Amino acid sequence: MKLYLKCPNCKYENSFKSNASTRVEFVMVKNKKTIEINCVGCNKKISASVNKIYAKESKSAFLIAGIIFMIGSILILIIWSKILSNSKNAMGLYAVALLLLVPVWIYIIIQKQERIRVSTFNHTYVNDYH
Ligand SMILES: [Zn+2]
Repeated sequence: MKLYLKCPNCKYENSFKSNASTRVEFVMVKNKKTIEINCVGCNKKISASVNKIYAKESKSAFLIAGIIFMIGSILILIIWSKILSNSKNAMGLYAVALLLLVPVWIYIIIQKQERIRVSTFNHTYVNDYH
C-alpha cells in the first residue's frame, strides 16, 4: 500500500509503496527500524523511525467504490424499469428493490475495509528501544 513520511526539514509529505500492512511487517521486510529516503521537497537524505511512517486512506479505493456504486445503481435501475414494463409480478419488484441495496452495500464495505487497513497500519507501533 501507499505509505507516507513527512520530511523533518521541509515538512514535505513523501510517499512510497510497500507491501507491508503494519509497521511491524515493514521492519521485518527491511530488517531495520529506521527508514532512509531522499526527500522530494528539499532533496536531502532523511532518516526516520518506522513509527514516523503512516498510511492514509487512498482516493482510488473511494473512487473505485464510487464507480461500482454508480454502475451498479444504473444497471439495477435498467433491470427495474424492464421488470416494471414487462410484468406485474410483485415479488420480482420486491427482489429488484432489494438488489438496489447491493451497490450501496459494496460501497460501504470498500470504505470500511479501507479505513480498517489504514487504522491497522497507523495503530501498530514498533518498539524503538530494542
Ligand atoms: Zn524535505
